Amino acid sequence: MTFTVAIIGRPNVGKSTLFNRLVGKRLALVDDQPGVTRDRREGQGRLADLTFRIIDTAGLEEAFDDSLAGRMRSQTERALADADAVLLLVDARTGTTPLDNHFANWLRSTDKPVILVANKAEGKAAQGGLMDAYALGLGSPVPLSAEHGEGMEMLYDALRPLV
Ligand code: GDP
Ligand code: MG
Repeated sequence: MTFTVAIIGRPNVGKSTLFNRLVGKRLALVDDQPGVTRDRREGQGRLADLTFRIIDTAGLEEAFDDSLAGRMRSQTERALADADAVLLLVDARTGTTPLDNHFANWLRSTDKPVILVANKAEGKAAQGGLMDAYALGLGSPVPLSAEHGEGMEMLYDALRPLV
């Protein structure tokens, strides 16, 4: 059976950008508008010698109307149910938000391995957010720049023992 990795996190943290980088094709829609990936996307992820199935999800967005928020929530829950491991993405530039805490609390109760990833970690602007991420209680965040492809070897090190 193929090892399945779900990318979870609030809108605009870079989930689809990471998905695209791991899949190597522009399968997921990337947009500046938060929460634009409303439909689940899957592909074959590849990281050096690791191959796995990867699921891109939309995040939970409190500002959306109930039915859309509900759809996104159930989509995220389904992705978690299908996953063997979870990448929880946060934004190292904006720092932790209540929604990040919500995801972290929710994922802390799962028995599946969760890798905390602090995305947008390129440059100095990310230092504060990176420190913030420790406080989510999910261990050391993996600093990553999905857009620039930096930190992929640390993501590899985190995933390697699981896949
Ligand atoms: P999603 O809503 O979590 O799927 O986020 P997207 O992948 O759609 O990305 C949201 C925005 O963040 C886009 O403008 C991306 O270009 C930007 N972004 C993604 N990864 C990075 C990164 O590593 N660094 C920076 N600076 N921006 C990023
Ligand atoms: Mg997306």
